Amino acid sequence: MIGAADPVRRNNYGLGMDNATSRDTPGIGHRQMFIGGSWVDALDGGRFVTVNPATGAEIGSVPRGRAADVDRAVAAARNAFDSGRWGQSVAERDRARVLFRMADLVRERRDDLARLEVLDCGKPIGDAEADIDEVAFMFEYYAGWATKIMGDIPPVGPDAMSLVVKEPVGVCGLIVPWNYPMLMAAQKVAPALAAGCTVVLKPAEQTPLSALVMAEIAAEAGVPDAVFNVVTGVGVEAGEPMLTDPRVDKISFTGSLAVGRHIQRTCADDLKRVTLELGGKSPNIVFADAPMPEAVSGSCLGVFGNQGEVCSAGSRVLVQRSIHDEFVAAMVAETEAIRLGSGLDRSVTMGPLVSAAQMERVNGFIDSAPADGARLVHAGRRPDDPVLAGGFFVPPMIFAVDDQRPRIAREEIFGPVMTVIPFDDEAEAIRLAHDTEYGLAAAIWTTDISRAMRTARALRAGVVWVNDSQPAPSEAMWGGYKQSGVGRELGPYALDAYLESKQIYINLGG
Ligand code: NAP
Ligand code: MG
Repeated sequence: MIGAADPVRRNNYGLGMDNATSRDTPGIGHRQMFIGGSWVDALDGGRFVTVNPATGAEIGSVPRGRAADVDRAVAAARNAFDSGRWGQSVAERDRARVLFRMADLVRERRDDLARLEVLDCGKPIGDAEADIDEVAFMFEYYAGWATKIMGDIPPVGPDAMSLVVKEPVGVCGLIVPWNYPMLMAAQKVAPALAAGCTVVLKPAEQTPLSALVMAEIAAEAGVPDAVFNVVTGVGVEAGEPMLTDPRVDKISFTGSLAVGRHIQRTCADDLKRVTLELGGKSPNIVFADAPMPEAVSGSCLGVFGNQGEVCSAGSRVLVQRSIHDEFVAAMVAETEAIRLGSGLDRSVTMGPLVSAAQMERVNGFIDSAPADGARLVHAGRRPDDPVLAGGFFVPPMIFAVDDQRPRIAREEIFGPVMTVIPFDDEAEAIRLAHDTEYGLAAAIWTTDISRAMRTARALRAGVVWVNDSQPAPSEAMWGGYKQSGVGRELGPYALDAYLESKQIYINLGG
């Protein structure tokens, strides 16, 4: 049975944030990381700052965890797992109760958490609120599963009995990106804890803050010490050591294809279990009979939502030639209404990119596109407020291409850049859609049900939307075909990633 949580420190991130507007960056000072149930600094005292991408101003600092800190966190998580502090000796219903409590605490702190997320990663406040609401639901959803993980009794003849039981996989290293910081963390933490695992969470260096609040919430909800650990730091220093540590049983990673490949290779040495959620260059296919105006707004949302920093962004907009020019004109009109600015301003619909490096990367694609054969159809404008002059803003851009040869039609940009590509018929749409190394998502816009079903079944993608773009309900499923990943997340599918199956064979004395 889990005792009541010790009095837990609650960082008052709300202080000074209630009145935060696009004109201030409230400082939150230095925040420690959470290892073995204690708030600690890096052993060597290293720190790094995190900034508000709307202004470039510093928000605060966190420890720069390195191998020695990861060693401490993994040792704590290993010990917690082996001593059965969570998975083996805590009744499932008690684990569930703790996770339900986490959901309640996320809801209680929703407004502060949403503002913190805006300050750290730049997204509009309404989007951040939606993220936090989904985080709360995610804990609730997996709390429900904690009491419903069941095994099987396969038939093995009259003289024996075979039981297949599910057990937690062990210590999990969870490595997440910066585009949906708390949501991506919850997507791994909630099923891992429901399954009975212990975890070490490594948030992205650009957005470490909400993971630290998640640790406060876990402790306050009654997650025992050392079951949930957070190490802040940069990937090669605070993530890499988990890949080679034999005490880590499982790595679950969301991020880029390049790092995903490296993780798969490195984890092959001791055959760690690996889940990879990687990138995409997802097709958004608009047939001439598409429902309007939904197809226009959905196609724009699919590539400009969350500043285009979305793994499943429908960044290749394939449009049937007979409606191409008219459809592009309608998307330009829709895009002109996008308002850039600080995410704390409720009238803003697009925030800054997460970092100066990301802004430069995206601008690199934009600058080289014309020479590469792409025609600029629409360019938005950076906000003109001088307070935001140091912000990492890239306005929405629409390019038209004749085929998929230009780099902007092939590579993941992870910014608000749409590439429009014409096609003649269904077969060509599918051929173009498949012409990529990725296979994360695809959207189809048509009012012909047979065409929708044919196309949905033909597409090699883990998620296919019909007459919609981007919904990702936590109860459903997420994951990529081809080089967009390995394994599946969300819904009951995520639980499999944190469970092992064991067969117990009993001779009945026949
Ligand atoms: P990234 O550079 O691959 O980083 C992701 C995480 O991995 C960060 O926490 C990073 O740490 C860490 N990392 C980097 N190098 C590492 C190493 N050698 N060992 C262990 N960890 C390491 O990706 P990103 O730029 O943050 O995120 C954008 C990418 O994520 C895009 O490609 C996008 O498509 C993908 N994404 C996919 C999904 C999905 O569900 N499929 C969802 C969201 C994003 P630092 O940041 O601290 O260096
Ligand atoms: Mg930041």
